[in-house]
Amino acid sequence: MNNHTWNVLRVTLPEELKEPVEAVLYENGCIGITDEAGILTAYFPSDANTGTIIDALSVFDGVRAEAGVIEEQDWYASWKEQFVPFVAEGLVICPPWREYETKSGEKLLILDPGQAFGTGDHVTTRTMLRMLRSWIAGQANVSGKRLLDLGTGTGVLTIAAYLYGLRDITAVDIEHQAVETAARNFELNGLKDKIRLLEGRVDKAGTGYDIILANIFLEALLGVMPAMASALNPGGCLAVSGLLSGQEGAVMDAAKSLGLEQVEMAEETGWVSLRFLAPR
Ligand code: SAH
Repeated sequence: MNNHTWNVLRVTLPEELKEPVEAVLYENGCIGITDEAGILTAYFPSDANTGTIIDALSVFDGVRAEAGVIEEQDWYASWKEQFVPFVAEGLVICPPWREYETKSGEKLLILDPGQAFGTGDHVTTRTMLRMLRSWIAGQANVSGKRLLDLGTGTGVLTIAAYLYGLRDITAVDIEHQAVETAARNFELNGLKDKIRLLEGRVDKAGTGYDIILANIFLEALLGVMPAMASALNPGGCLAVSGLLSGQEGAVMDAAKSLGLEQVEMAEETGWVSLRFLAPR
């Protein structure tokens, strides 16, 4: 991880635009945001085109963004400092540079965000974990079920699924850097050869899944809805997130036309997650 550079955007904005602006940043490949006194610093891999992202932000009134490049060492230390172990849905998510002694009943998930999205504490990730867990609670034979984690990023949902008892898991991402990060995290959790990890699109993953998790943004989600619907087993579950409030209608319509039944909608701090079931 030495001698890496990162693209950063420093964004000044009115408080009420924080959620939509963060969503646009994430949609454009942002992997982490820090907020200091209302000024956002958004981090992007070195191949990100910050000019395009500044253009995308120009639709917002009163938002000013400035691009820069920084050496990894400059911020990685403070980023590391800020990432402390936290509890999410029965798991303790902990970076590899911290010591954590699990108490009884706790399951440890080691996560190095690397150049992929988030530390696992984003509201959309947490909602996916919750939806996964509640689906598992209704299953008789969890280890025999097949899960697809589409847009695995750091691999956090896949590792969680394994810790929850699933054994047949496929993780897919279109970004090479995400796949590398996920591979490292699988290894950190002792899952090196236990997960099918694929770089590419949804069609690479094949079909026959009991549950599909897709925490990706609206346009990408709409593009993969038909493929996900046909990759589900009868009665299978599809949980999606990454939608901003107001964007859910388009996904609901797509799901309906594909014969999926909506069974849940969750909304928190401007983000929407949905859960569907395939017909039996
Ligand atoms: N699943 C993780 C990461 C979500 S970030 C979590 O819930 O926290 C979304 C990821 O989806 C990114 O890594 C991005 O590269 C990937 N992605 C976006 N569009 C995709 C597509 N069409 N197919 C596969 N992966 C995609």
